[in-house]
Amino acid sequence: MSAALEGAQMDDGHLHALPSTTKDGTSRSTTLTVLTGLPGTGKTSTLIRLLQEHQAAGRDVKLYLSAENSLLTQRPNVVAGGRMGCRNPKLSFTISEVLKTDQAIERLVYAAPGSVAAFDEAQYFQPQIVPSWIAAANRGVHVIVSTPSASQRAALSAKAIQLTDLNVPCAACGKRKSTVVIYKENLAQPTQVCGSCESDHYERTVAQLLNDVRESEPFKGENRTYQPFYDLPMKGWTFVRGDSPARFEIIRSALSKYPYIKVDPTNPGREYTYVDVGCCSGFFCDAFTTHGFSSTGVDVTKHFIDWAKRVALLKRQSIRYLQEDAEKFLTSSNSQFDVTSSFATIQWVMAQRNYNAGVNCFKALFDRTRHVCIVEMGYSTEDIYKTKILDRPTEIDKDWVLRIMNEHGNFAHIDFYPAGHLGIWRDIFVGYKKMPADKPVSPAIDWSSGLRSRARRAVRRLVEKTRRRTGNGS
Ligand SMILES: [Zn+2]
Repeated sequence: MSAALEGAQMDDGHLHALPSTTKDGTSRSTTLTVLTGLPGTGKTSTLIRLLQEHQAAGRDVKLYLSAENSLLTQRPNVVAGGRMGCRNPKLSFTISEVLKTDQAIERLVYAAPGSVAAFDEAQYFQPQIVPSWIAAANRGVHVIVSTPSASQRAALSAKAIQLTDLNVPCAACGKRKSTVVIYKENLAQPTQVCGSCESDHYERTVAQLLNDVRESEPFKGENRTYQPFYDLPMKGWTFVRGDSPARFEIIRSALSKYPYIKVDPTNPGREYTYVDVGCCSGFFCDAFTTHGFSSTGVDVTKHFIDWAKRVALLKRQSIRYLQEDAEKFLTSSNSQFDVTSSFATIQWVMAQRNYNAGVNCFKALFDRTRHVCIVEMGYSTEDIYKTKILDRPTEIDKDWVLRIMNEHGNFAHIDFYPAGHLGIWRDIFVGYKKMPADKPVSPAIDWSSGLRSRARRAVRRLVEKTRRRTGNGS
């Protein structure tokens, strides 16, 4: 590490006075400040206070946000000239620019020594920005980085920039140090808790959710529902779509052959989007989000959306769930998603509206697919639909789906997985906008890690419980 950066602080959550004196007693100015820590520990308010101090000292202050992730850019204030606020309503600061990583690097290159370049929600910039932060700080630019991503943190650590843990007590028990946040109402209100209290919250929340599911129609009083929740303990439950994990396995193998999607959950700055039209209680949105996608789920059934939202909150996932009719959602915009899916939903549009409405849904779904589209369709030859979709000009079956995908999808290639494959209930079609490879090319998506998290959680719970019994607190 360079001399100028010797005192650089990675400060988990709070900014204390920057050290101006090092071990040998020489005074140095510190110009790289990294704010990390659990949500809600005051990183943004600390950042704003710091920027106000710099401004009061007459320095040129620039505050940059990333233009590379919709979770950020969909906020109405995230524009040049917008105000970045925090939980303290009296504190805010003007955003200088919302820009991409290469532009931000350029700003750092030209920043004058003594000026201030601050990056809030820094995780949404690409990790290659890290050397530019360090280089600018070395030239005397005051660089302030709030909330770096895992890959940015790794790059900072590789430069021996130290991370200091902030010791915030658990808001639930008050005894142990908080290590994680939980959300009870929405993602804007985190509560910092210890692992043990988080486990308790997890178990209570799952029990309450499953209780509510059990009390819902059409399987009232039974441990049965339409589809499972992804990676949630549901021992003893049965599902209408028990083939959900098998369907997901097919998606996994389909995407692993597609070289244009390379998801890296440690780098949220490179966003890949997914939408599930007819998402039910969110199995696929959860699975995609767990593996680094920005997901949107659409379903017309209120309690499915409510349950899905509760699971997302439990898992700290930012998923956009919309209670909306599939046709309305699909035709109301032409914004695209990298991956789209619709599982056995569009035949209901045909049954409830008419045949053409369903065809229009497919056209819109294909138009709104940037890369990969996964289709499952209820066939008019199935008993449940035989007496519905009465205006159909022809039977809706495998050939019909292939024809409509070929005619309207603009796909370079379509994969077909027949019912029964891996235990799937209906045929699945995967349309690729560009040619996929013959074999898996992308091991980057570790689709099994979500399942391992359950094992990790079980181990952590055991450790925490042992600690509680032995009274060995922190
Ligand atoms: Zn606790």
